[in-house]
Amino acid sequence: MINLNSYSGDSILFLQEVINSKKRGKGEQFPFYKDRIKLLIPFLSNAYKVYDTAFTSNKLLYLAPLPSINANQKDDLLKLYKYGSKPFIRLKNAIISLPNDYELNTCQYCTINDVNTLDHIVPKECFPEFVVHPKNLIPVCSECNSYKSNKWVKGGNFEFINLYLHKLPYQQFLYVDLKYTNSTFSVKYFLKNTHNIDAILFNIIKNHYDNLKLLNRFQGKANQVISEFENTVRGSLIKLSLKDSLECAKATIVYEQSRLGMNHYENVLKLTLCSSLAFMEYCSDKGYK
Ligand SMILES: [Zn+2]
Repeated sequence: MINLNSYSGDSILFLQEVINSKKRGKGEQFPFYKDRIKLLIPFLSNAYKVYDTAFTSNKLLYLAPLPSINANQKDDLLKLYKYGSKPFIRLKNAIISLPNDYELNTCQYCTINDVNTLDHIVPKECFPEFVVHPKNLIPVCSECNSYKSNKWVKGGNFEFINLYLHKLPYQQFLYVDLKYTNSTFSVKYFLKNTHNIDAILFNIIKNHYDNLKLLNRFQGKANQVISEFENTVRGSLIKLSLKDSLECAKATIVYEQSRLGMNHYENVLKLTLCSSLAFMEYCSDKGYK
């Protein structure tokens, strides 16, 4: 999981781009959709300024829905968002492109699936005025998006990590308990604040992992990770001892951590394998030396 840079362009210009991309539907009756939406632009411009100020000062928690939107206007606003259309694909590509031209097409909510949709950080059902605010949209996978649904704040704190605003800690907070019994690995991921991460931030991290069922989802991937790791080590055994193979594997993971952070579920498990008695027992069973 890594922080992402929010859209750097002008929010209102993006809104206008979305509106301009709308075409008149066949048989559409007067007053036409595009004209109705254009009438809302002054009102949306003010709302966008409020969002941008809250975003810049990291105070989205205090954002309140505008009471003046009626049901018809809400329907019109929600129709602005269509993931597959050009402005949103361009927005997604702008956000997941890193400075070295490397595109990060993996959902950073879970680090498991590919990005295939945009999440509304502030839910569009509660805040239809921000349905296409580019700083309110974040590239994610549909599995995470479905778990997130309309949740965003609970008990005065965020339910999810805002990858634009919450600076992810460098320190490790994701761990794995690994056992090897009866020729089978049992893997249990858990969160622990061993490095005194700010309590409010750690609470958000915990909410995020709970809401998206991440620990279970990581667990479901564990056998695949172990199998890949075993193959890497086995490949090195052609030239190296088991001890040296594990040292090399460890060095590779440390490089990966500089790119993916300290809490990527695969690397956390692989590092645990490198230094665990459980994996040594497994290697001994397999005759790896
Ligand atoms: Zn995801």
